[in-house]
Amino acid sequence: MARTPIEDRYHELHPKSAELFERARLNFPKGVTHEARNMAPFPIYMTRGQGSHKWDVDGNEYVEYNTGHGSMILGQAHPAIVAAVQERMALGTHLSASSELEIRWADLVKQLIPCAEKVRFTSSGTEAVMMAFRMARAYTGRTKVLKFFDHFHGWSDYANAGNVKSMDGIPKETLSTMIVLGLPNNGRGGDLDAVEKAIVGSSDVAAVIIESTGAHMGSTPVHPDFLHGLREVTARHGIVFIMDEVVTGFRASKGGAQELFGVTPDLCALAKILGGGLPGGAVAGKADIINVIEREQMLHQGTFNANPLSASAGITALELVATGDVNEKADAAGAKLKAGLNEVFTRIEVPGHSYGIGSMVHTRIGIEAGVDQWGIIRGQSTGAAISAETDHQLKMAMLNNGVDTPRRFLTMAVHTDDDIAQTVEAFEKSLQEVRELGLV
Ligand code: PMP
Repeated sequence: MARTPIEDRYHELHPKSAELFERARLNFPKGVTHEARNMAPFPIYMTRGQGSHKWDVDGNEYVEYNTGHGSMILGQAHPAIVAAVQERMALGTHLSASSELEIRWADLVKQLIPCAEKVRFTSSGTEAVMMAFRMARAYTGRTKVLKFFDHFHGWSDYANAGNVKSMDGIPKETLSTMIVLGLPNNGRGGDLDAVEKAIVGSSDVAAVIIESTGAHMGSTPVHPDFLHGLREVTARHGIVFIMDEVVTGFRASKGGAQELFGVTPDLCALAKILGGGLPGGAVAGKADIINVIEREQMLHQGTFNANPLSASAGITALELVATGDVNEKADAAGAKLKAGLNEVFTRIEVPGHSYGIGSMVHTRIGIEAGVDQWGIIRGQSTGAAISAETDHQLKMAMLNNGVDTPRRFLTMAVHTDDDIAQTVEAFEKSLQEVRELGLV
């Protein structure tokens, strides 16, 4: 598509980002350090954040919904986190030893997360999932892990199973240890039979893993009945049930999706909010499974596991989650945003709707449908999802209009009514601009 007025404006507003991208291209493949930041014609370079806002190198201000890829439910530069990290920084960030901090951090995980009898820290969600797979395999003596198509569990060789591109370098032997099932019917159920068939057919399944609210961050929700069904089937066959709570942990509720839906997995993977904005991950779950490490069935090292800096940020974040109204506030902001976005669709007569659980707010643009309380489409939908090009134009338009990011909004405890109003206004303006291109 030829350069649009939206893209012209994007260039006009972000000259320094464009310049930095030219330098970045010399250093990084695709010019970026995370696939999600890969954006044409160039990504925006941010300099600082405060609360629900952030600023780029050109001085533009944004209402922030990317929220550190879901880590920052407290907002940017929360004073308690800043103080905890500054204090810790001056005391040394890695004493190559155990610390009391890690015990407190794990105590909070156990207090909040229903399945957590024991905990083991890692540095990321990817690592946590990898460790959960190893634990399940060691515990059951079986090999295969069943996952669902398009459910994201980090970038490890195993977790990439089911992807359709960029799969070079992953041994086919590794992929052959994974079973990937689709989730037809929007996860509403009816596919438990397929899961059980795969389990029985293979007789070598160690674990079933699921993104607790669907690929990704709940954009395709999973019905709680399906989670309950998986819990029952896996228990019946002696298979480890893993809920990937990297996003949903401490967000879907204080105790994650498992508390919200009342489903207790054997293991869960945690990260993001767990680290209070610093790197951190964990596997939490049944002591007997996690004790594969104690029984010397598996080894686990990692220089930065439970490092004092991440632990101090994580403890501060989890204490605020445990004792405050962080989740209530983030959820309330999500509800207001959802309502506001839905009003826009109606007001300007663009087919689409906003849906999602709590602080995870999504839009389906182009599709007209009723949804249930989980965001699952009720009955028939009409229309078709917008094209990648339309999505791209909308994303640029939203950034031009001071909001990051248009399609998946993660709300934080610090989003104000003004932020929501500004976001809804920006969404309406951006959709109009995209409509002027004849794209919606
Ligand atoms: N699982 C899920 C559901 C995720 O959303 C992510 C990250 N977006 C991961 C695992 C991987 O976590 P990390 O980026 O910390 O490795």
